[in-house]
Amino acid sequence: MGLKFKERMCAYALCDEVFPVTNERKIFCSDRCRGRHHALMNDEETEMIRLENNQIIANYRILKAFRVGKVFRRSELRLLGYELAYCSRYTVDRTVGNAVTYWCYDLGLKSMELGFEIVSV
Ligand SMILES: [Zn+2]
Repeated sequence: MGLKFKERMCAYALCDEVFPVTNERKIFCSDRCRGRHHALMNDEETEMIRLENNQIIANYRILKAFRVGKVFRRSELRLLGYELAYCSRYTVDRTVGNAVTYWCYDLGLKSMELGFEIVSV
């Protein structure tokens, strides 16, 4: 009976190596590829976090430029470059028809019938 190793393609996206599987848990052809793979993943993760944080900060600066109580229509927010989906958290006020407030740190936009009102904590 011939003993034949299974083969596997290196898990590092930029490597085409096919290597014999001597250990089921081994997914990279070498330590170098393992290191490069983790470096690549960390870079992408850092970049993704940076871009999302930047938009939350941009939203925050827009809110800070206006007074608490100001109401915007959705179209006005869009023109200002405000992206509602980017917030640090949101809360739901169940006493007022489930009004959602999209917070950027200590300032938020509360959904109202006619638009979004700037509120603060
Ligand atoms: Zn490799």
